[in-house]
Amino acid sequence: MSNTDETPESLIDTVRDALVRKGAEGQFPCPVCAANRWRIADRAVMLRAIESPGVLVGTPDLQVGAEVAAVFCDACGFLRLHVLDSLLKD
Ligand SMILES: [Zn+2]
Repeated sequence: MSNTDETPESLIDTVRDALVRKGAEGQFPCPVCAANRWRIADRAVMLRAIESPGVLVGTPDLQVGAEVAAVFCDACGFLRLHVLDSLLKD
């Protein structure tokens, strides 16, 4: 599933709703600093697969990897990633 056509605000809302639905939002403190100040990035991120260090898999038109939602601690910046295909299904 791709959400790249969503506006940033609707992506934040979609990701937040999915995290709440799956019990993955608002109840877990940051494992680094123990704050509970998570923020959802306003854009999805593409993690590109690599064949070997420095060599991307795919082409500019056919990128291979995972689209993820980035959620970060607003206190220390610790970053966690949720694969959108998994997060948004069910
Ligand atoms: Zn933190």
